[in-house]
Amino acid sequence: MFRLDGKVALVTGGTRGIGRSCSELLAQAGARVVMAYRGNAEAAQEAVAAIEAAGGQAEAVQLDVADGAAVDAVIKDVTKRLGGLDILVNNAGIARDQLLLRVKQDEIDQTFATNVAGAIYCAKAAIRPMMRAKAGRIINLSSVVGETGNPGQVVYSASKAALLGLTKTLAREYASRGITVNAVAPGYIDTDMTSSLSDEIKEGIVSSTPLGRVGRPEEVAAAVLFLASDEAGYVTGQTIRVNGGMYV
Ligand code: NAD
Repeated sequence: MFRLDGKVALVTGGTRGIGRSCSELLAQAGARVVMAYRGNAEAAQEAVAAIEAAGGQAEAVQLDVADGAAVDAVIKDVTKRLGGLDILVNNAGIARDQLLLRVKQDEIDQTFATNVAGAIYCAKAAIRPMMRAKAGRIINLSSVVGETGNPGQVVYSASKAALLGLTKTLAREYASRGITVNAVAPGYIDTDMTSSLSDEIKEGIVSSTPLGRVGRPEEVAAAVLFLASDEAGYVTGQTIRVNGGMYV
C-alpha cells in the first residue's frame, strides 16, 4: 500500500519540521525526493544524508518559493534531470502573528509571497510536466486556522484559507488531465514554527484538542503520503484535517 517507487517528488521547505517528515516518508515509500530549502545548506545536506542512510533517494536544492523565476528554473531543471515531476508538496510557509491593528505591510507581503504566491508559482511550474504525463499530485499545506480563524493570526489564517481556494480551483481545472489537488490542514504540530508559543498558549491548545495532545510531524506526513499515492486516485479538491479533533 502507498508505494511511490519510480516517482519524483518535490517538497518545498522540505528539510525541516513537517516538510522534513514528508520528505522522509515519501522517500521511504520509494519516491526520489527533491527537498527545496530556503537558506540553510548545511541542514539540507544533513537531511539528504539521513534519507540516504535509511536507504532512500534524495537531493536538496536551494529555492525561495517567493521568487517566481527561481521556481520556474528549479522545477524545469528537476523535471529535465529526473525525467518528470509526479508529486508536488507545497509545504513552505511562514507565520507572522499579530492582531489586526499591529499588522505591518511587510508582514502581509512576506506571508502572502511565501504561503500563497509561492504555492501558485510551484503549482504553475509543476503542472506542465504533470499535464505531459497525464498524471500528478499536488498537495498544499493549509492549516486548521484557515478554516476556523484565530485571534492574532489574521494574516496567516487568511493565507491558509487562500490555499483552500487554490486547492479547489486547481482540482477542478486539472482533474481532466489526471492530476489531483488536495490540501492537508494540520492543527497544532510540534515544530520550530510552534516552539516559540508560550506554555500558556500551548496548554490552551491542548485543552481544546479532544485527543489531548499536540500532533507530530509524521502524523501530517502520513496524510500527505496517502494523497500522493495511487490509492488516492479518486480524491481531489479535498482537505484532510490532521488536528486531533480540534476542529471537526
Ligand atoms: P517550520 O517553520 O518548521 O518549517 C517551514 C519550512 O518552510 C522551513 O524549512 C522554511 O525554511 C521553509 N520556508 C519558509 N519560507 C520559505 C521560502 N520563501 N522558500 C522556501 N522555503 C521556505 O514550520 P512547520 O511547522 O514544519 O510548517 C510546515 C507547513 O505546515 C507550513 O506551511 C505551515 O504553515 C503548516 N502548518 C504548520 C502547523 C504547525 O502547528 N506546525 C500547523 C498548521 C499548518
